[in-house]
Amino acid sequence: MAYAALNSSPAVALGLRGLRRQFPTLAQKINGQPLVYLDNAATTQKPLVVIEAMERHLRYDVSNVHRGVHELSVRATEAYEGARESVRAFLNAASVKEIVFTRGATEAINLVAYSWGRANMKAGDAVLITHMEHHANIVPWQLLRQELGIELRVLPMDERGVLRMDLLDAMLTPEVKLVSVAHVSNALGTVNPVREIIERAHANGSRVLIDGAQAVAHEVIDVQALGADFYVLSSHKMYGPSGVGVLWGRADVLAGMPPWQGGGDMILSVTFERTVFQKPPARFEAGTPNIEGAIGMGTAARFLMDLDRGALADHEHGLLTYATERLERIGGLRVIGTAPDKGPVLSFVVDDVHPHDLGTLLDRAGVAVRSGHHCAQPAVQHFGLHATTRASFGLYNTRDDVDRLAEALHHAIRVFR
Ligand code: PLP
Repeated sequence: MAYAALNSSPAVALGLRGLRRQFPTLAQKINGQPLVYLDNAATTQKPLVVIEAMERHLRYDVSNVHRGVHELSVRATEAYEGARESVRAFLNAASVKEIVFTRGATEAINLVAYSWGRANMKAGDAVLITHMEHHANIVPWQLLRQELGIELRVLPMDERGVLRMDLLDAMLTPEVKLVSVAHVSNALGTVNPVREIIERAHANGSRVLIDGAQAVAHEVIDVQALGADFYVLSSHKMYGPSGVGVLWGRADVLAGMPPWQGGGDMILSVTFERTVFQKPPARFEAGTPNIEGAIGMGTAARFLMDLDRGALADHEHGLLTYATERLERIGGLRVIGTAPDKGPVLSFVVDDVHPHDLGTLLDRAGVAVRSGHHCAQPAVQHFGLHATTRASFGLYNTRDDVDRLAEALHHAIRVFR
């Protein structure tokens, strides 16, 4: 395939031609057409370095971690803890003690709700979220509401999908013990002003959780500079394997939190009368962890750190701009989420065509997009909709991919009209 756009400057700086070859999944045909993968907000493809790191562990180093004195256990423990260090460096966290491995962003938020929430909140206290949250940042707080009688407050957004920051201070009353906000919206692409939110929330004495699931693959995150109390991420959205993610928590905040699950590895000593718990992060990692997953995630973090992240951001932003311009020219197509600051996510609807039908026809042309509510039903309903079609870009996408999307859309719409 000819990739003229691979010669444009951010693509060159990124080494896009070579990078694409790192992703074996991309080199295949779907329904007879070369695959155009535009569902990166749901999950990303995996580079060879990640596949090979996991394979190496599974071929040669399989053992449980933290337990054995034998060689394989030492190797597995070193690789697992090495992955923790890679994620620490990726987030510029102050210490590996602040990196808790979880099943993903969802489990990380549930951990905070269950452990921090139960220990620090009572009936009448409030958690402030926003109208554009993923269900993973809504439902855990509703469960806590059921249990404790807390209040769930929702910061509204406007018709572009921009948070109503003018309302924030009035909603930040002393009852708000936690503000929990997406860094980047998965359904709309909006990049939220998290620094400002953190500052204002801290001025109110509230803790802050930032859901970085849609941010970490696209921009450099420095948790120390950001200054939140918690930051959560999923490996599979940053070119790592699924079933693993991270809760970053400030050391002093994690230190004050009780365990949320009990079992092996999170204890110092156990008798039938009394258990003494480990310090964080082990306190929050009961049981055998996803060892190969963590190794894959650490490798993905290193893979991203080795890239020119400025060029990557320019490249992805260029794709979003180009795609928005091309799609807006299609009659009857409406872009959903038009914030001035957006991550590489393009949601849209087409008059008289159901998003699922559109997704199916695009798949026939080899173009993989997402159709549905994107696990953010309130955000989509805000626009009077039940579903959108979403194209989301990753580091390996090209302008040719956008052209293929646009052509496939033209064709699909002709079928329905
Ligand atoms: N938060 C946001 C903004 C997301 O986009 C997602 C996944 O789409 C999640 C949380 C949940 O991530 P996971 O399913 O990997 O736990």
